[in-house]
Amino acid sequence: MHHFTYINGILHAENVPLPEIAAQVGTPFYCYSTATLSRHFKVFDEPFGGVDHLICYAMKANSNQAVIKTLGDLGAGMDIVSGGELKRALRAGISGDKIIFSGVGKTETEIAAALDADIMCFNVESESELHLISEVATARRKTANISVRINPDVDAKTHAKIATGKAENKFGIPWTRALKVYALAASLPGIKVTGIDVHIGSQITDLEPYQAAYERVGELVSALRAEGHEIQHVDLGGGLGIPYRHGDNEPPLPKEYADVIKKAVGNLGCKIITEPGRLIAGNAGILVARVVHMKQGEEKHFAVIDAAMNDLVRPTLYEAHHDILCVVQPAPGSPGQEVDVVGPVCETGDYTATGRELPVLRQNDLIAIMTAGAYGAVQSGTYNTRALIPEVLVNGDDFAVVRKRLETDDIIDLDNMAPWQ
Ligand SMILES: *Cc1c(COP(=O)(O)O)cnc(C)c1O
Repeated sequence: MHHFTYINGILHAENVPLPEIAAQVGTPFYCYSTATLSRHFKVFDEPFGGVDHLICYAMKANSNQAVIKTLGDLGAGMDIVSGGELKRALRAGISGDKIIFSGVGKTETEIAAALDADIMCFNVESESELHLISEVATARRKTANISVRINPDVDAKTHAKIATGKAENKFGIPWTRALKVYALAASLPGIKVTGIDVHIGSQITDLEPYQAAYERVGELVSALRAEGHEIQHVDLGGGLGIPYRHGDNEPPLPKEYADVIKKAVGNLGCKIITEPGRLIAGNAGILVARVVHMKQGEEKHFAVIDAAMNDLVRPTLYEAHHDILCVVQPAPGSPGQEVDVVGPVCETGDYTATGRELPVLRQNDLIAIMTAGAYGAVQSGTYNTRALIPEVLVNGDDFAVVRKRLETDDIIDLDNMAPWQ
């Protein structure tokens, strides 16, 4: 469910016609809907009514300040994976006690900054990290709250690049070694054990792996308590999938997911933390682009658009499907054509869609690449010395540029000659 719909034959973001934004901002641009972000947060939050819980939005999905602020105002905490994201969260007004720090490679500097911000918890991924947090905390006379991220060795049945809960993945500590690592944590100065953490992957469309992982978490909580650890919260990660393809089998509803959680860990007396990213932001954003050229190849038709893999890498990186809509709604019965929708970047992997049946496109047509709100702008870059594209947030009748375009001159100005040149 999202708020990008045709009104009088023109695709709108909430009440704003997309051609109006394109005329003011230029293409390509990302466009986010406040109403959709809010709605997704609420739909995810509601089934936990009456349960002690905190939704820590995984801001790596979309870390624009305006997006974080929108969610923070609704009560969201943040799941961060870097010192940079910590700064973003703090600057957007998220208080430290609602911030969870995940990730396998936290550096001394990042740990120190997180301790100074008095964050809620570190999700620890190795013994080495545990020792480093202890050292940094002791030196600063601070206590770090920690959870150990356990690797439950379940197959999340998702794309290999975003599965994180199998024994062969770099993430977490094998669940079979959890008790040993907790014993180490309890023995180290500057460390306080407060919870347990798991995150098995992303774009998960089946509840069964969740159930298996969360039951394992539940068993571990009992085992850890028996050894004297105070487990106050369970952090169950994120990863619930979303529909990318119109008419797809719908992924499980947030309510069904919440039921799995409540059944597996609801009776432990723990605060329940979740870290959804994609589910909140994915369908709340689109990428609007313009057709630069139509090209007839030997065997195929190509629509060359002004957005490329540097702007949205998901099709190339994850073989992801994104629905594409014409901003001007085609008349019923108008002809279609099978096209590859490609960008100007000099790589064959630079495509948004291949072999896609679309209404016949013409030069200068505007198109909307749907479901681009998560893992879109955050993974954009400037390959081929292309401008970093702007992000726009819509709210009802209003819209605002919430990240301006980084122009090519600004990018080139970052370079300088070596002294001998
Ligand atoms: C990426 C990530 C998430 C969010 O995953 P989504 O699929 O966007 O919900 C949550 N927790 C951790 C630790 C992550 O790395």
